[in-house]
Parts: sequence; structure tokens; C-alpha cells
Amino acid sequence: MNELASIIQLGNPILRQKAVFIENVQDEKIQNLIDELITSVAQANGVGIAAPQIAASYRLFIVASHPNKRYPHAPEMPPTAMINPQILAHCSEMVKDWEGCLSVPGIRGLVPRYQTIEIEYTDRNGNLQKQELTDFVARIFQHEYDHLEGLVFLDRVENNQDLISEEEYQKSVMGNG
Ligand code: ZN
Repeated sequence: MNELASIIQLGNPILRQKAVFIENVQDEKIQNLIDELITSVAQANGVGIAAPQIAASYRLFIVASHPNKRYPHAPEMPPTAMINPQILAHCSEMVKDWEGCLSVPGIRGLVPRYQTIEIEYTDRNGNLQKQELTDFVARIFQHEYDHLEGLVFLDRVENNQDLISEEEYQKSVMGNG
């Protein structure tokens, strides 16, 4: 069993690096990294995590959508490893919603994202997958993809007034349902 990897936080330069392409998905190191990420996201009860967040600067993230208080209709999906992901196309419409990040504790931001995106990635068995994602899952994908480019959600908010504390978020946003 792997020990739980610690999640690095804003200020660690790895979060600002462009992550490297994965040449060999079957590499034991990569397969172990996938398992480690799946364990980490489950422990944190998160909906996504990118490899750079555990200090492994590879183009790999996990999307693990599940229904939650704010998104009761979020699709329930098994934690899915997406390797060398790409956004092939996107709609013109952007929607704003609140995001948080395991690497940016205590802060929430109102972030514009494309509502619908067409994506591809290699799965952990080495097969190329193409999908159209919308709404919450599209948002998770774009948030995690940004991590591979050295960006965090703070870079995407339109102004500082769209940043609030976790405590205020819990009180006002969650409180209003
Ligand atoms: Zn994040």
C-alpha cells in the first residue's frame, strides 16, 4: 500500500510548472501515481486532483464527479484517470461558478469556464478516449487541465471581488442552497 501523498499548496513552484507529456502509460511509476492520486482525491472527498498537486509534474489528472450539496445532480462517476488530456473544441458560452482547490485552502473563487468542451485523453489502459463534457464535469476538467499548464483558479477569476473565504462561502453560498 502506498502512503498517502501530501498535497502541495500555492507557493510551491511545482504548481507553476508546465507538466510533462507521459510517454508510457504502462510504466509502473505512472500506474502507481494514478493509484496514489485516486487515494488522495477520495481521502480529501474532492471531485478532482492533478498530478502536479502531489508534486509529480506529469500530464495526468483524476476526475471524480459525485453528487454533493451544491451539485445534487452531478454525475456519479468512478474516479477516472485522464492522461495527456486535450481540449479539442469548446462552445463559445462561458458560465461562472464557485471553485475551490485542495492546493489553495480557505479560498473560493467565482470562475468562468466553457459550458461544453470536446476532449480527448488516454485512459490508464492506454486507450484514446474522446468525450463531450458539460457543466460540472466540464468545469472539473478545465480546472484540472489548468494545473497541467501551471495555472490555478485564482488566475481565472475576473476580479478580486470574486474571491471569498471558505467560511463566507459556507455561510452565504452554501446557505442559500
Ligand atoms: Zn485545483
